[in-house]
Amino acid sequence: MENLKPSSRKVIPIVAVAADAVQISSSASSDVKMGSIYQAQKKIYPRSVGGLFSKWRWAMVFITQLVFYGLPWLEWGQRQAVLFDLEARRFYILGLVLYPQDFIYLAGILVISALSLFLFTAVAGRQWCGYACPQTVYTEIFLWLEKITEGDRSARLRLDASPMSSNKFMRKAAKQFLWIALSLWTGFTFVGYFMPIKELGMNFIRFNMGPWETFWVFFYGFATYGNAGYMREQVCKYMCPYARFQSAMFDKDTLIVTYDAVRGEPRGSRSKKADPASLTLGSCIDCTLCVQVCPTGIDIRKGLQYECISCAACIDACDTVMDKMNYPRGLIRYSTQNALAKGWARPQILSRIFRPRVLTYAVILLLITISLFASLALRVPFKVDVIRDRASLARIVSGGKIENVYRLQVMNATESAQDYRITATGLPGLILASEGTISVKATESRWIPVTLQLPYDAASAGSHEIHFEVESLNASGHVTEKSVFLVPR
Ligand code: SF4
Ligand code: SF4
Repeated sequence: MENLKPSSRKVIPIVAVAADAVQISSSASSDVKMGSIYQAQKKIYPRSVGGLFSKWRWAMVFITQLVFYGLPWLEWGQRQAVLFDLEARRFYILGLVLYPQDFIYLAGILVISALSLFLFTAVAGRQWCGYACPQTVYTEIFLWLEKITEGDRSARLRLDASPMSSNKFMRKAAKQFLWIALSLWTGFTFVGYFMPIKELGMNFIRFNMGPWETFWVFFYGFATYGNAGYMREQVCKYMCPYARFQSAMFDKDTLIVTYDAVRGEPRGSRSKKADPASLTLGSCIDCTLCVQVCPTGIDIRKGLQYECISCAACIDACDTVMDKMNYPRGLIRYSTQNALAKGWARPQILSRIFRPRVLTYAVILLLITISLFASLALRVPFKVDVIRDRASLARIVSGGKIENVYRLQVMNATESAQDYRITATGLPGLILASEGTISVKATESRWIPVTLQLPYDAASAGSHEIHFEVESLNASGHVTEKSVFLVPR
């Protein structure tokens, strides 16, 4: 055991004793191969690239960030259009006011999002990862900030290798300033989805933010800074669960970023004027640009790898090279495994989109989406909860009547004040002895004490099922809630 103490050995020698077995040895003999069980992390310096897919990626950056940063500032009547008010236990999504009892709708939205992801992955691979995932989007923005402060790939490599100087310090400091400012703004915006963002902004300006608000602004900001600034491809490779199970949604007709090895090999450098056929070379000039632009640092020429996030930066880079060499574009392209193996053209690839797996996902997605919208359209615009008053189970009051007391919570899910009529049924002679009509303000909920009375001897001793009927007097809608009426012995 002594030999395994961390202080005693830095590297654990691993000896292969069978095809799938290893043995940890305490002494390293000359024929034992030494190796660390962890691979040292190599920093990746992705080169920036222009092209069709780069434009699409930036378009997605603008669209997603416009929505994320802009939505909390959007007003809907007198309130924030999208607000998940956890303290008041109310969610506002444009015209919808949702209570915790409406959680089923949020679950429905999550199911639709997940199914959409499955559907698009089955059709076109990891498009979400390559274009819209926050990790990709923020890495793209952070890389851009890095480029404007430290320069492109070769300049960054030189800067990192050079000793500290005033120029290096200024560039690094400018990058850190921009990264931290963007991260804090992102954290602030995130918290603005959970509390009114204008109020949060005023508190921030007056240095008057509460401890939880401060914690979440800095926590989310720190997560953005760490993930997009430093972790980058590590998040996709080692932390993201979707990267792990997305292969289950792939088949041989799924669009992936592929290198056409038949056309590209054997690879090799040559002059622009040389005829590759006479040199017995393929179209790949082995410039490694496709590797240099890859944000995950892989070589797509080695085939489909789980690290590939389908960002298509290598397609743009290779197309640029093909243009310069006057070769046809598409040595690296979106294609399918079947198309590559069988030499299919685009119409045959497109015809395989409508295959059973895709149709199954599409039908399920359509059914759930229709059900969700139908149920939202038909939902009663208020909710009712009933709890019995635990202080007094049942009592005899004047006139010889048995009285039970309850508390009703009426939740108005509309944007205007509403009147409701309360009645109770279930026992002959059961009457409401408290206020029968109540008002609840727009989007508010109100607790109302409700008293029911029953003539003595109208029911046997014990517990009897009754129903509260609550009816909206302004809008349509009727809710029935079950409870019990206790008759003492
Ligand atoms: S960018 Fe194209 S030509 Fe250059 S190494 Fe990659 S595949 Fe070959
Ligand atoms: S291999 Fe190409 S598509 Fe895949 S992550 Fe790298 S650059 Fe993006």
